[in-house]
Amino acid sequence: MTDLQDQLQRPLRDLRISVTDRCNFRCRYCMPAEVFGPDYAFLSSDKILNFDEIERLVKIFVSLGVKKVRITGGEPLLRRDLTELIARIHRLEGVEDIALTTNGTLLKKYAQPLAQAGLSRVSISLDSLNDERFFEMNGHRGKVSTVLEGIEKAAEAGLQVKINMVVQKGKNDQDVIEMARFFKEKQHILRFIEYMDVGNSNGWRMDDVLAKKDIVEQIHQHSPLRPIAPNYLGEVATRYQYKDNQGEIGIISSVTDSFCTSCSRARLSAEGKLYTCLFATEGTDLRELLRSGQDDTAILNCIKSVWTERNDRYSDERNEQTIANRKKAKVEMSHIGG
Ligand code: SAM
Ligand code: SF4
Ligand code: SF4
Repeated sequence: MTDLQDQLQRPLRDLRISVTDRCNFRCRYCMPAEVFGPDYAFLSSDKILNFDEIERLVKIFVSLGVKKVRITGGEPLLRRDLTELIARIHRLEGVEDIALTTNGTLLKKYAQPLAQAGLSRVSISLDSLNDERFFEMNGHRGKVSTVLEGIEKAAEAGLQVKINMVVQKGKNDQDVIEMARFFKEKQHILRFIEYMDVGNSNGWRMDDVLAKKDIVEQIHQHSPLRPIAPNYLGEVATRYQYKDNQGEIGIISSVTDSFCTSCSRARLSAEGKLYTCLFATEGTDLRELLRSGQDDTAILNCIKSVWTERNDRYSDERNEQTIANRKKAKVEMSHIGG
């Protein structure tokens, strides 16, 4: 196997695949309803990679060093027959781990078949336990109880469960302690995500970000924490364990304590574009290569050259100037996959 490295000596280890740009939520920080309204032009099905194409690309990515695959979106469980795709990726030699990021609304139905198909882990997004605030944040689309039911079904199915909470000042920062308490009791790892300036439509302001140190401080006051070592090099969340040994939390601090130096993630959009950063403005069209009859070597060489030229470190460099430079040009998170 070729051990690829980019310009900053980062290997290619993780592949995040967005299987749809559609979603049944309209979270204000991701797909605000006023932008993603009834007339929004989502990708038509012929523009989206089919399972044969995705499987072929995953095989090529694995030959270049990818070991972990994460399925995301949009809302990935809206993609028809997703369990079949999971089963196909699971059968590929070299794939060590398959994870899914979901808003959890359809997990009640799919958790068991997904686990049977070979999914090992699921990250479920939930921003509040308060129905009113959750409703406000997800664009009036989903109830807390539905997501909690999904979480339960995922755990029952034997999937490793983590919960993701995006924290926005003035929106759900009052829920940090309650969420920590609740999921400590349930024995699920809760990861707090700093609100990020992804895409161009969420009206992000630094003032709305609750910083990692403030999140940790709040929880520590209530239930003392100690930092613990990462599980592996390049883990995105900084880990903290409760001092009473009754569980842990994680913080994904892409804004106030970025981690670009260890970023080994490539992203494949639903329409088959390869992106090397969450904050990218342009991708490389792999669908065109697939559909114009190029062989695996040509596609492999294309991915290789994209990765070896990669020098992305947007979060490490984030300042007023870099934010202004990318204004209006970034790809939306629902498109690129979170
Ligand atoms: N729909 C699925 C979900 O919500 O889990 C998967 C896709 S979503 C884009 C992936 C993750 O990105 C979610 O955990 C979501 O909360 C997070 N996310 C979306 N917009 C964000 C933002 N502006 N800042 C931080 N995290 C964000
Ligand atoms: Fe949908 Fe996930 Fe974005 Fe919310 S964060 S709008 S659930 S894709
Ligand atoms: Fe990776 Fe880009 Fe995020 Fe840095 S900003 S960690 S390079 S995705």
